[in-house]
Amino acid sequence: MILKAKWVLPVNKKPIEDGAIVVSGDRIEAVGKRKKLEKNYPDEKIKDFGQAVLMPGFIDAHTHFEYSAFRGLCDDLPFTRWKLQVTEKSECLTAEDWFFSAELGALEAIGSGITCIADITDTGASLQASKEAGLRGIIFNEVMGMDNSKVNQIISDAKKRVSSWQAETKGTNLEIGISPYSVYTVSPSLFKAVSHWAKEDGLTVCFHLAGSSDEYEFVKYGASPLATSFLKQMGWNDLLWQPMGVSPVKYVEQWDAFESGKVIVVHCIQVSDADIDILKKYDVSIVHCPKCSAKLGMGIAPLDKLFHQNFKVGIGMDSPASNNTIDMFDEMRMGLLLQRGLNKKVEGLSAEKFVKMATLGGAQALRIDSQVGSLEKGKKADLIAVDISHAHQSPVRDPYSTLVYTANQEDVVFTMVGGKVLYEGGEHLTLDKEKILAMIEPVRMKLKG
Ligand SMILES: [Zn+2]
Repeated sequence: MILKAKWVLPVNKKPIEDGAIVVSGDRIEAVGKRKKLEKNYPDEKIKDFGQAVLMPGFIDAHTHFEYSAFRGLCDDLPFTRWKLQVTEKSECLTAEDWFFSAELGALEAIGSGITCIADITDTGASLQASKEAGLRGIIFNEVMGMDNSKVNQIISDAKKRVSSWQAETKGTNLEIGISPYSVYTVSPSLFKAVSHWAKEDGLTVCFHLAGSSDEYEFVKYGASPLATSFLKQMGWNDLLWQPMGVSPVKYVEQWDAFESGKVIVVHCIQVSDADIDILKKYDVSIVHCPKCSAKLGMGIAPLDKLFHQNFKVGIGMDSPASNNTIDMFDEMRMGLLLQRGLNKKVEGLSAEKFVKMATLGGAQALRIDSQVGSLEKGKKADLIAVDISHAHQSPVRDPYSTLVYTANQEDVVFTMVGGKVLYEGGEHLTLDKEKILAMIEPVRMKLKG
């Protein structure tokens, strides 16, 4: 099949005007000028997107699909109060509710041009929804526990769960990773045990790190509402929590958290230059979540410093519980403008840089860039078409500028994963939109109550 459009963005090379992509089976066969490919592949069927951009699918490098039903439920709260509310409200949901909530996330993501996710899930609902939807990605099994005496039991349970999830995802586009969720939910010994297990089994590890200032104070001074209200809510208030006297990054390093080799950390806001050096030493990947971090008052990650040291950086949207939309265009735009506001300069970060971060950067952060992230012969055919024919987008001079400064999730008209069409012209081919939207209503009523 030949897909053609006014613009093709390979991302690893310059944009191609009047370009095309040849897809064969689940892979990309060729990328180039439309005329040349039509001549070289005369028997292929042609799909013409007209005034559109064909590009690699977006990689949402940090999600929690199962929290999609929480959209708009806990708005305008600082981080810890938000976390307390989300945790409290979570208790009323059943396994079926979590599944519909995760399906809503998958539905929105696919319609927004996301082809690959890195999702942390406690219930496994994100795995079920992503599998049904046909998404690519890494599903991380969430591991929690602040009681050091229970580490062996937690690891043994998690191992069973991971192997059952691995069996469930065999032959799909999904792989399984492990997530020691955060410093305020995972004890030092548990961090260590997870890391050693991940190293042994070659699992990718992902966790939240150096996000809010409450988290920083929790680790360094043993203080903040995380050390009081949150530990109490989780039933961990009888455990001894002491000031560690170091930053969150230094603290988890002391417990071998980066030792497994394939580690992704999410947020990375409260970091000193010394912390950044530690992360670099272990080749840790970073996921930048600009909208979620700003909305919860966590701050803005020092992107310029991370790029200066050539980190693998992807963009994550976290969950609709904190970010309200799974819209990579909005995320790129907001992310870029926040950096300019913070740094009081324009140089260094461009629209092109953000599109790359949302595609190839994400693939590098997840260490799957040999498979996806750019349009190249031999890579998986994970690609999308974005309509740029609207009045607010015309005239188009530079497709990178159009995507970042004018486009939104509704402009996506086509989403393909591994050569399979998941979404086209407003229609979902793997998910039942009407059913999901109907099923989410009673879930929301429960959460409101
Ligand atoms: Zn998160």
